[in-house]
Amino acid sequence: DQGEHAELTGDLNPAQRAAVEHAGTPLLVVAGAGSGKTRVLTRRIAYLLGARGAHPGQIMAITFTNKAAAEMRERVGELVGRRSGAMWMSTFHSMCVRVLRREAKTLEMSSNFSIYDADDARRLLTLVARDLDLDSKRYQPRALAAHISNLKNELIDSESAGSHATNDFERRAAEVYVEYQRRLSQANAMDFDDLIMRTVELFQVFPDVAEYYRRRFRHVLVDEYQDTNHAQYTLVRELVGTEPTESGVEPAELCVVGDADQSIYAFRGATIRNIEEFERDFPNARTILLEQNYRSTQTILSAANSVIARNPDRRDKRLWTSEGDGEKVVGYVADNEHDEAAFVAGEIDDLVDQGVAKYSDVAVFYRTNNQSRVFEEIFIRLGLPYRVVGGVRFYERKEVRDALAYLRVLANPDDTVSLRRILNVPKRGIGDRAEACVATHAERERISFVSALRDAVADKVPMLNPRSRKAITAFVELLDGLYELADSGVEVADILEAVLDRTGYRAELDASDDPQDASRLENLDELVTVAREFTESAAEAAALAPETDAEEEPDAGVPEPGSLPAFLERVSLVADADSIPESDGGDAEEDADDAGVVTLMTVHTAKGLEYPVVFGTGWEDGVFPHLRALGEPKELAEERRLAYVAITRARERLYVSRALVRTQWGQPAANPASRFLDEIPAELLDWRREAPSSGGGGGSPRAATTWGGRPGTGSDSAQSRLASGGMRTTGFTGARNDWKDTVALKLDAGDRVNHDKYGLGTVVSTDGTGPRATATIDFGTAGTVRLMLIGSVPMVKL
Ligand code: ATP
Ligand code: MG
Repeated sequence: DQGEHAELTGDLNPAQRAAVEHAGTPLLVVAGAGSGKTRVLTRRIAYLLGARGAHPGQIMAITFTNKAAAEMRERVGELVGRRSGAMWMSTFHSMCVRVLRREAKTLEMSSNFSIYDADDARRLLTLVARDLDLDSKRYQPRALAAHISNLKNELIDSESAGSHATNDFERRAAEVYVEYQRRLSQANAMDFDDLIMRTVELFQVFPDVAEYYRRRFRHVLVDEYQDTNHAQYTLVRELVGTEPTESGVEPAELCVVGDADQSIYAFRGATIRNIEEFERDFPNARTILLEQNYRSTQTILSAANSVIARNPDRRDKRLWTSEGDGEKVVGYVADNEHDEAAFVAGEIDDLVDQGVAKYSDVAVFYRTNNQSRVFEEIFIRLGLPYRVVGGVRFYERKEVRDALAYLRVLANPDDTVSLRRILNVPKRGIGDRAEACVATHAERERISFVSALRDAVADKVPMLNPRSRKAITAFVELLDGLYELADSGVEVADILEAVLDRTGYRAELDASDDPQDASRLENLDELVTVAREFTESAAEAAALAPETDAEEEPDAGVPEPGSLPAFLERVSLVADADSIPESDGGDAEEDADDAGVVTLMTVHTAKGLEYPVVFGTGWEDGVFPHLRALGEPKELAEERRLAYVAITRARERLYVSRALVRTQWGQPAANPASRFLDEIPAELLDWRREAPSSGGGGGSPRAATTWGGRPGTGSDSAQSRLASGGMRTTGFTGARNDWKDTVALKLDAGDRVNHDKYGLGTVVSTDGTGPRATATIDFGTAGTVRLMLIGSVPMVKL
């Protein structure tokens, strides 16, 4: 009824409302940052259900990162409740995996296929290049991988790659591509780009399959459409269709939202052509522009607009806000990257002390992941709770990949890359020569590597010496025992534990006194925790799941929730953009009394998100813009869009900083100011500290003083914490000299401590070991705080 619809659209502006209510033809919403595009998308979903009688199972919404997908699920969940469970809300990759598992038979593959990430793909390419006798300098796996990926993004398959080649490298790469695909299919595996390309192929070659999905998904919505590449665009078009099918199924309703100024994935083949030619691609399309920004202050918006206006060949947009000017952008020139991090940390501390912000209101951005380390060091040292999104690369660690390789072999015995990875890990006497014998045998007999191993056991592999044969026999028996366990229906975490124990992997690390191995053990424990939580959340989801409607049959080929294949699918699809294990940081967030944690991430990862306080760091030519972009107009334009994304994440306060000297590749380098800094109008900027000899206004004497005298820190908050100024002074001077001296403080519940900032306290509990050790400490009136115990902790045990 009317009232209900008003509730769904009442707090939208007219253009937003038009987008939510638009029906029938394809719809493109183009608008600048913070104008409510994502809000339109989620609201439209609620409107489809509430006002247009759509069924949750008819809705597919696609986003770019797992983080964005999770956020959308949450937003839609708030609007429509549990019914959201029946929708497909995911990344392109997850959605394709779901389709491909279901339709594996049609493509003559088995539905338990493995998903190869960039690292697996490079490993396989290394094998292929070696077998094709290619010069490993000229044909580096990384370059081959990038080239093949580009071809796949353009939907050029291995058979036709040769005819597209224009030089020697491309011709050889085309041969590699053919062999690479053959091996992938032999291993029952797909790489990330295959997921999209094979789904497109599926829809194009099997119209009845395409029709099934078109009948099923009557509404397709895509966020961040400016970052789609050709393959993804084609996928969307095949999915919704542009005209009725032979049996009369009308095209599905398509709604895409995007902003050409935020296109930051050209390096993965993204093209804003998809936005610019939407109306040509989809007949009868309607375009709606949004012009009011609801996120940022006018100052922040003006800064963003001035920067992006320098890009050539763009359509000018007029964004306005009714928010008022707000605070000026704060600029800061640091001596070096440690000073910069200290400034950021000190400023966050002040904002929180003054009650201006909570930790969770704050985000720190940098251009590349390796810049996070310096921030982490000082945050740990000061006990500022934080979380790094994407930088941890948990799933890229060797021990984690080894453990997952075992699980993958258990789920898909044909997964050659994983099998060869663990063949002699931990060492069990199966050397390179033995591996080569088995591989050659597999090639010659055209059988899988695992079958060749079994042939070795039966003494059918030529040239294999008896000792290797014995080792292989033991390995195959080990695997068989694990297969049996995996088939018995125990939880994923128990299978993982068995792998770590029976292979001797854990024992080997346990026996080592290398501190690195201690942290490897912790990572494996963390993986076990991830697996346990996975099972728990699958059980919870099952308990909460809505009754399945009669018209929705369960999906064949899709892994059972909570199963090993489901777990592997989940961890494989954690895109590099946001790879953190689900359990990382979660505890910290709960423990900090709703104050949450500061978020550290690259600008790429920050796309679509917003924070009241944003620190843009490393604004130096050669860092941001990236060195690679200097002198390359196209890349520079992309870097500028990235700067636009960074600035527009901020709602109330924006900081931009740079360091005069920064250690890069082990060498101190003096970088000039980022040109993007100069592009922010001077009147919008308040320089807290300027370069010593800067001609642009000259730093005030006060601003030039060092840390202890930083403006705003002189008079501490009412709570007058013990030695708070002192903490800063010692903290920061220490920071300059003894970064590498990491002393872990050994504490137990009941111990008494004196902290430079919080004063006297009693340890309530401790958690974790080594670099992950933390203690929860009751500091009386200063509160209960959880602190990391690594680094030069400004605290002594009494
Ligand atoms: P980006 O381009 O960065 O992805 P966006 O266009 O998707 O931005 P949203 O994230 O949807 O923008 O919205 C930005 C902020 O403005 C959000 O906090 C959102 O809730 C708020 N907002 C959007 N529209 C309105 C509105 N009509 N009234 C009040 N707040 C709004
Ligand atoms: Mg958005």
